Amino acid sequence: MADFDVVVIGGGPGGYVAAIRAAQLGLRTACVEGWTTPSGQLALGGTCLNVGCIPSKALLESSEHFEQAQHGLGDHGISVGSVKLDLQKLLARKDGIVSTLTGGIQGLFKKNKVEWLKGFGRLEKGASGDAAPVWQVSIDGPDGHKTVSATHVILATGSRPRPIDAAPIDGKNIVDNAGALAFDKVPKTLGVIGAGVIGLELGSVWRRLGSQVTLLEAMPEFLALADAQVAAEAHKQFTAQGLDIRLGATVTATKVGKSGVEVTFKDSDGEHTATFDKLIVAVGRVPYTDGSGVREIGVACNERGFIVTDARGHTNLPNVWAVGDCTPGPMLAHKASEEGVMVAECIAGQHGHCDHAVVPWVIYTHPEIAWVGQTETQLKAAGIEYRAGSFPFAANGRARSMNATGGFVKMLACAKTDRLLGVHIVGPQASELISEAVVAMAFGAASEDLARIVHAHPSLSESMHEAALAVDKRTLHL
Ligand code: FAD
Ligand code: NAD
Repeated sequence: MADFDVVVIGGGPGGYVAAIRAAQLGLRTACVEGWTTPSGQLALGGTCLNVGCIPSKALLESSEHFEQAQHGLGDHGISVGSVKLDLQKLLARKDGIVSTLTGGIQGLFKKNKVEWLKGFGRLEKGASGDAAPVWQVSIDGPDGHKTVSATHVILATGSRPRPIDAAPIDGKNIVDNAGALAFDKVPKTLGVIGAGVIGLELGSVWRRLGSQVTLLEAMPEFLALADAQVAAEAHKQFTAQGLDIRLGATVTATKVGKSGVEVTFKDSDGEHTATFDKLIVAVGRVPYTDGSGVREIGVACNERGFIVTDARGHTNLPNVWAVGDCTPGPMLAHKASEEGVMVAECIAGQHGHCDHAVVPWVIYTHPEIAWVGQTETQLKAAGIEYRAGSFPFAANGRARSMNATGGFVKMLACAKTDRLLGVHIVGPQASELISEAVVAMAFGAASEDLARIVHAHPSLSESMHEAALAVDKRTLHL
């Protein structure tokens, strides 16, 4: 008998959630994780908890308070004296949240009887090589080398920042997302290569704290993944806040000198040079499978290095599964976790399932951006006829009381059946509002269903209601 029914390689939101669910289902489960913090502690939680979702949201929250205290309170008739920033305290708060949450996963492992195998794991050939081999996972960690056997292995090794030759990370002047969460003083000038999700979120953090931020984006279009109208509204608001967004800008070289990082880039006006105190490189992420044995053992990967699975998360090798950022699809923590649950349930003989069509996206800037389902561009390209309904937050009483009137909700519904096909929000608390749309779409709702549901007054959710009414051209407050 194998040592474990399931060994999960990787303890991020894909892996640790898969491990907890597998253990809940009575499977003898271990999770291999070797993430080491800058202070030398081993930690669970992966990118998300250590250098991703959680620390970035902590900084976004703190920096938004700083911005509001300086520029937002006056309109409410509240005057404060000079507002001072204690950056070390702000960063310590973020670090405290991270260590509480990563420690919390350790607690969840204990509660659910998941064994944490500390170190980096490597999948090796099964003992038997027959139709249902017992896999081996060798682990190198602080306690040396050991090997365990497993009936099932779940690969959840995540992703890492995509490097570019023109701007090699030195961890001091030119940094990736991890470095950008921990500058020890606010850079006067900050360059960001890539105006994607990380660039916009972390660019916003440092702008609010006082940096002059320039984003250099290679694509001629801003936020190409989002609905075009949402992207245009967000671009307008970000620019008004002072983010200098240069589109169609290709960085050709960087040079670190005494006065900072000199960046050479080309755009439609020709070649330019700009010098920044710090430079963040945020040009996407790539699957991380180095050292995990994936290639050596013959796990099928696509041309971009993502592990290929079927709809249940099963790879080409028997009883070897994969979830999260190391597999194709959006690199989002909730997508990774849901896949983890799905795979654990499939291993336990249940009908695990993850509805990839209704994975929400959120960008936690101000305004927030959130969407689920298809954009107008995608629907047009697919030749699907649809009706669109929009409602601006400017016409919503709660948004007015919050001084958050920019942006709108847009709903797209099938012209024939009225089934919701996409919902796009730019504005206050879009991250929370989108859940209503996710639930509606997961249940196959029509825009008429949302139009007939009572929404609390006054609330931002009334904009969801009104956008649903707008699909049928019967808004009440516009
Ligand atoms: P990861 O979280 O990357 O975890 C993989 C783990 O596997 C790592 O801990 C790694 O150490 C471990 N590992 C790798 N190889 C081995 C091995 N051989 N042996 C043992 N362990 C191994 N997503 C959101 O949904 N919302 C957000 O707000 C959000 N914000 C983000 C902000 C930033 C700055 C970044 C960088 C990302 C953000 N993301 C966000 C994306 C999110 O972090 C990822 O989608 C998510 O972490 C993927 O989970 P995962 O478990 O697949 O991989
Ligand atoms: P991204 O794909 O969101 O954005 C990268 C941007 O860099 C794109 O706009 C791309 O066109 C641009 N780019 C690529 N190469 C370039 C180059 N050489 N020069 C200039 N621009 C270039 O990737 P990201 O911002 O690095 O984030 C990685 C992933 O992490 C995201 O796709 C997302 O899945 C996840 N993430 C999610 C959240 C969230 O859910 N709120 C937050 C942060 C990160």
